[in-house]
Amino acid sequence: SYRKGGYHAVRVGDQFAGGRYIAQRKLGWGQFSTVWLAYDTRNSTYVALKIQKSAALFAEAALHEIDVLSSITEGDPSNSKCVVQLIDHFKHSGPNGQHHCMVLEFLGDSLLRLVRYRRYKGLPMNKVREICKCILIGLDYLHRELGIIHSDLKPENVLLLSTIDPAKDPVRSGQSPILERPEGSNVGFSSVVEKKLKRKARRAVAKISGRNSPLVGAVGVPKSDRNVDGIDVQCKIVDFGNACWADKPLAVEIQTRQYRAPEVILQTGYSFFVDMWSFACIAFELATGDMMFTPKPGQGFSEDEDHLALMMELLGKMPRKVVVSGAKSKDFFDRHGDLKRIRRLKFWPLDKFLTDKYNFSASDAREFSEFLLPLLDFSPEKRPTAQQCLEHPWLSG
Ligand code: ATP
Ligand code: MG
Ligand code: MG
Repeated sequence: SYRKGGYHAVRVGDQFAGGRYIAQRKLGWGQFSTVWLAYDTRNSTYVALKIQKSAALFAEAALHEIDVLSSITEGDPSNSKCVVQLIDHFKHSGPNGQHHCMVLEFLGDSLLRLVRYRRYKGLPMNKVREICKCILIGLDYLHRELGIIHSDLKPENVLLLSTIDPAKDPVRSGQSPILERPEGSNVGFSSVVEKKLKRKARRAVAKISGRNSPLVGAVGVPKSDRNVDGIDVQCKIVDFGNACWADKPLAVEIQTRQYRAPEVILQTGYSFFVDMWSFACIAFELATGDMMFTPKPGQGFSEDEDHLALMMELLGKMPRKVVVSGAKSKDFFDRHGDLKRIRRLKFWPLDKFLTDKYNFSASDAREFSEFLLPLLDFSPEKRPTAQQCLEHPWLSG
């Protein structure tokens, strides 16, 4: 990936935008970019520098993301809407081409790391509530004020405002910024290290994609239980690479598999309510430590069909009106509205699932299900909006 059209190799101490930003350490990476902690010498603050791959396709995606992020930032001058802010953007030329760079406010660990940190046991309910509130404030802003669908909401794309480990936070740890490239060896990630990390990440993903696997024991999970009491759980929605304006949908297949709404699978057309479905999947995952749906293909059926089956096992049969609505309906369902290739479903209603599998008390299970089930309505337009959801009694505990 570190070749023409690909990632830009960065070393600690590298300068960007005529020396304004100085690379400190790598924060993460995705299919499109690497993201670095950088020191902003003009404002004496730390920022996250997202450096896009250089090929035309990635450049175009970056311009779209910058467009979306600019609207988001302009519409929220008080920075109170739980969505990441764009500080600056510029182009940077390197040996692999010209890279679009986005300067974002520096945020902490993702909700995925938070769930892993708890050994996939789930967070205490009061923490789940606080995080849900933040995400809903963000979604309400995106949907109602801007008309934007995120389209890839998942725990990786919601970041805490601070890091779990204070040593990783340059301000809390009191480190002074690196202002020039350290002497001698290459202290940035070499592409060899990069490859190793990617392999490790792939193994972790492979491990957590088994059907209803308990998820305990995945890569990087500490042995002992971890306390989250001290963690301030305010968070922000990030990664607008797949976001779109509701009146200009970009792709037919959107969302990461496990968080994908049924209307996307059936190809019925979609709107803001796909984010509400993903939101419910995230809330479930925060509370239990497990993904709500982990479909996989089997003998004689596809991943899509397994996914539809898992949804119906938890939420009941799909109403006929929904079943017949999509371009792909006939591929999956017969004329009686039953799945063609998965004939026997094991129904396990959500509240019972929570008490039986996750030892929720009967009242916790009932209240949490009452919050989640409307969001998981098979008819998208019946799902509550983020604004309506914010009024739900479950959120006020
Ligand atoms: P994807 O393949 O998911 O589309 P991407 O290339 O678009 O990825 P992002 O998801 O935006 O990249 O960022 C990659 C990673 O970098 C994130 O998962 C996160 O770990 C880290 N990151 C991104 N933005 C920030 C930020 N503002 N502050 C701190 N870390 C960040
Ligand atoms: Mg991402
Ligand atoms: Mg992205």
